[in-house]
Amino acid sequence: KTFEELGVSEEIRRAIEELGFEHPMPVQEEVIPYLLGNGNDVIALAQTGTGKTAAYGIPVLQKTDATNKETQALILSPTRELCLQIADDLNAFAKYMPGMHIIPVYGGASIQGQIRELRHGVQIIVATPGRLIDLMERGVVNLEKVNNVVLDEADEMLNMGFSESINTIFDNVPADRNTLLFSATMSKEVERIAKNYLHDYKEIVV
Ligand code: AMP
Repeated sequence: KTFEELGVSEEIRRAIEELGFEHPMPVQEEVIPYLLGNGNDVIALAQTGTGKTAAYGIPVLQKTDATNKETQALILSPTRELCLQIADDLNAFAKYMPGMHIIPVYGGASIQGQIRELRHGVQIIVATPGRLIDLMERGVVNLEKVNNVVLDEADEMLNMGFSESINTIFDNVPADRNTLLFSATMSKEVERIAKNYLHDYKEIVV
């Protein structure tokens, strides 16, 4: 299959062709057309290196309106390094989507610079859970228009003790959003998150 056959937009195809993506990887072949069609929630058991970032990043970008400065997607990840990596990848996929702003926010760095960036308007926030809660409490992020929430490396986030933070974040996003959960392993805690926060999901094992 080609990315065009999966329904990927012309702008994104141009960007990923420049990155050297020729054919979709298996997780992309499953997740992209599902989310671009009528699919809502997804659980994917996928390790790093399987192409998981593009599997959720491409459909999330394509479903995000770059002309609207409200935050429409939230991607949660366990570490600063992964936040930066995800934001870099999505920015590369969005190269030909003018006006699309994707901002990483994570702990261990000055919050003031992140607040300044957020105030300009950002459609996609890539965050570690603790820092996001801090920013929510300061009133600098508004999650009322979020229609996609991605948990990347969900098992790692739960292992690191972010369970309560994740609950708080889900309390503050619209109930009718879509939820995409990516995890290397399935654990009791991951199952709890799936049971509480996903509905009618497709499960994919890579
Ligand atoms: P990930 O699992 O998201 O960390 O991706 C692993 C690596 O594969 C990254 O360097 C991606 O840029 C690359 N990649 C993702 N999808 C494709 C694709 N369809 N073709 C070639 N490389 C890809």
